[in-house]
Amino acid sequence: MGIEPFLIASSVLMTCAQRLVRRVCMNCREEFLPDAEMFEKLGLEPKKDAVFYRGSGCDRCKGRGYLGRLAIIEALPVSEPIRRLIIKRASAAVIKNQAVTEGMKTLRMAEIDKAIEGVTTLEEVWRVTAEDR
Ligand SMILES: [Zn+2]
Repeated sequence: MGIEPFLIASSVLMTCAQRLVRRVCMNCREEFLPDAEMFEKLGLEPKKDAVFYRGSGCDRCKGRGYLGRLAIIEALPVSEPIRRLIIKRASAAVIKNQAVTEGMKTLRMAEIDKAIEGVTTLEEVWRVTAEDR
């Protein structure tokens, strides 16, 4: 945006990203085992004991299997190491790696948690994060 890195580093305390994922319809929710390819695409270890869900489609969700949406947020606190990376004009990938090392949950990680909770599906996680790395 043409802003000097030191201005961002000294004034931004936290940055957030948000995505909306569709919620599984609770009226027709059923247990479901996603195929191995989906785990692979998302970089997940296929877990035998993990239970995932999907909506089979009903009148309430008009056969879509989803009803409503849920906001997923990724929050990146600008720590001292991240401040230094910004000043050095480090790439977004380098800054993201540092944030993950410091415990940040990426959008995809937060969405996968919601899929494991049965609130959304891995297909939906892939739909909204396919372009993320
Ligand atoms: Zn339904």
